[in-house]
Amino acid sequence: MNIHEFQAKQVLDHFGVPVPRGSMTESVEGAKILAKKMFDDGAKAVVVKAQIHAGGRGKAGGVKVCKDLKRAGEAAGDILGKTLVTPQTGPGGKLVKKLLVEEGTAIAREMYVSVILDRVVSKPAIIVSQAGGMEIEEVARKTPEKIVTVRVDPVAGLRDYQLRELNSALGLSGGLAKQGGEFFLNLFQTFMEMDCSQVEINPLVVTEDENLIALDAKLNFDDTALFRHQDIADLRDLDEEDPLEVEAGKFNLNYIKLDGNVGCMVNGAGLAMATMDMIQTVGLMPANFLDVGGGASQEMIENAFRILLSDENVKGVLINIFGGILRCDVLANGIVAAAKNLDLKVPMVIRLEGTNVEQGRQILAESGLDFTVAKNFKDAAEKLKKVMKN
Ligand code: ADP
Ligand code: MG
Repeated sequence: MNIHEFQAKQVLDHFGVPVPRGSMTESVEGAKILAKKMFDDGAKAVVVKAQIHAGGRGKAGGVKVCKDLKRAGEAAGDILGKTLVTPQTGPGGKLVKKLLVEEGTAIAREMYVSVILDRVVSKPAIIVSQAGGMEIEEVARKTPEKIVTVRVDPVAGLRDYQLRELNSALGLSGGLAKQGGEFFLNLFQTFMEMDCSQVEINPLVVTEDENLIALDAKLNFDDTALFRHQDIADLRDLDEEDPLEVEAGKFNLNYIKLDGNVGCMVNGAGLAMATMDMIQTVGLMPANFLDVGGGASQEMIENAFRILLSDENVKGVLINIFGGILRCDVLANGIVAAAKNLDLKVPMVIRLEGTNVEQGRQILAESGLDFTVAKNFKDAAEKLKKVMKN
């Protein structure tokens, strides 16, 4: 699960990671009041930042550093209600409903820091670079040697020699090295205690008066551990999530919306991945990932089918089921029940194998539904391509 920058900064502040003073508002009037208070308190600049669950806001005009109250008000008016399109939002962009108004920092240099789980070595990894800021993707592509990775033993924790290594990679010495050590310990503690799947600070900055401060913050949480963090679960912002994914979540379906036009329904994540590969191999693009799970009930199948079809981009449907625990007759009944209430306007190809396959095929054949049967999943993808062309 993802949270907003202003929320991430509250969590980091709780763990002793330095962040700028700031507050969230949902109105231009609110932004002006917050900015006025900051200027009155002696701030030299105020930054107005779009709060959406995506990075790349700066380049898209969603972050504005303002030197006076008038400009802060204008920036708030510009950004609030605007649809920001960044490399991370997808082409549709995201509507800005919330703003963070925070104190402007005098920046000497910008660095990159993140903590993720390195699945190859089964350890958390801290990734740092002196070349932080808005070009980090470019740095990773063109000069990956500027990025340093330190893997941390989860039992031993972050050791002194690793703190020195991280400080040295970021060129932090003297008083800044001391701050760096505390920063990394606190950031790592946040990652571990909060069951994060990712913590990203880009940029972490050295200020003109030689202090370290986290100017941006992205926290991702492991969904399977959210039951231990009700306070975090409460921060979920459904406005930021795809409505179909939210709907699918209600029925415990593993559904992720994608950009293509082939709706696919598969059981088992591995088979779902392989099916998506096959769809692409024949030159089509999947509209979603959907794993209905091993033991899906008829009701789950019905809901999955309904959700899959309510995506306007779907121009063809591929159902690929290997009946193991999920029996083929249960699947067939689910599809028939769902199709009764829906107007199926797009071609559908079905491949069924496994437990009760004969009953499943019979239920489908007697349903009056219009669909094509495929032998295996390569055949399914090819047949779908053919019928979609027509
Ligand atoms: P994004 O990563 O979505 O573009 P950031 O929060 O990283 O958004 O902001 C983009 C840039 O704006 C930063 O790299 C930094 O240069 C500047 N910036 C952000 N917050 C502040 C702040 N509080 N004070 C001064 N500059 C800031
Ligand atoms: Mg950033």
